[in-house]
Amino acid sequence: MLHPLLIRAPAATHSNIIKERYMEESHDIVIVGGGICGLATALALFSKGIASLVLEKWETLSAEGGSIGVHGNGWRVLEQLGIAEELRETANLVTVFHDVWQEEKKSTLTPVGKELRWLKRKDLIETMAKNIPAGAIRLGCHIAAIHPSDPGAVLSTPGGRVIRAKVLIGCDGSNSVVAKYIGMSAARSTPHTFLRGFTRYPHGHPFGDHFLRLRVNKRCFVGRSPITDTLVSFFVAFHIPSAGVTRDVRATRLSLEAFAMGTLLRTKSLATKLACLAILALLGTKSLGHANYDCGRL
Ligand SMILES: Cc1cc2nc3c(=O)[nH]c(=O)nc-3n(C[C@H](O)[C@H](O)[C@H](O)COP(=O)(O)OP(=O)(O)OC[C@H]3O[C@@H](n4cnc5c(N)ncnc54)[C@H](O)[C@@H]3O)c2cc1C
Repeated sequence: MLHPLLIRAPAATHSNIIKERYMEESHDIVIVGGGICGLATALALFSKGIASLVLEKWETLSAEGGSIGVHGNGWRVLEQLGIAEELRETANLVTVFHDVWQEEKKSTLTPVGKELRWLKRKDLIETMAKNIPAGAIRLGCHIAAIHPSDPGAVLSTPGGRVIRAKVLIGCDGSNSVVAKYIGMSAARSTPHTFLRGFTRYPHGHPFGDHFLRLRVNKRCFVGRSPITDTLVSFFVAFHIPSAGVTRDVRATRLSLEAFAMGTLLRTKSLATKLACLAILALLGTKSLGHANYDCGRL
């Protein structure tokens, strides 16, 4: 029987988490938002010896959710963040894509190729948080307003606390106060709604190491993947055409550009190099394009 579980993070008792207690303070780097993005950014900076302060509005890190499929590129990031080994202990390797098209009565089995494991979002959030140094995550700190300053920006909470940041990094999700501050357009929703959950099989599940991708019809897609021998994650995705734009053109272009650039640097084949150069030329890629992208005032 399908049994969705809601996972809640434990109360914030870790020694690396402090409550807000200063009325005015200054920091070199402030990250707004303690989700996956904010914690990964803090951990990446820390691994380079750079300190930062993560501000999270809730009193606990929100570890709710189901599972997240981490593919080869994700594992490369987790390796660099120094938490890959720890997270591998929490999730089995998935080696086969089992694709089923129900209406067409068709199915295929394809080897996964690169490393794929489904992590519990809770494990990912908690592992990142505990590897971030003491005092670098502040909970219960809701940034309500941001004003420009020289250098950087001044952040304030509804309680009147003022935090000066030389560098401000926005990782505050879809209703981002930082995105608003730098003048980015409002977030758009995708035309998909997801239901996620887990099923426990105390005596072991029968799904081996297969990731099932079941296309029920044009509107409904079901995924099911083992996490451990006794825990299976599932999601049901519903397509709601009126809900918004499917693809962000800029994100697609950046992905293609990054892929072509990476392949160009890696490949030894002259033909592949030429193909990559042709793609980059067609995209009008400038080598400093990313570095020069105007994120607005910081
Ligand atoms: C509760 C939850 C469950 C999810 N479950 C799954 C899942 O099971 N599987 C999956 O594939 N994806 C899941 N997702 C989506 C996936 O985790 C997101 O793609 C990813 O979390 C995006 O990360 P993010 O850090 O950019 O933003 P978010 O996860 O949205 O994190 C933003 C953080 O910023 C904080 N914040 C926002 N505004 C402010 C402010 N003004 N001041 C201070 N803090 C602020 C928020 O409280 C939040 O903690 C989930 C997302 C959430 C939020």
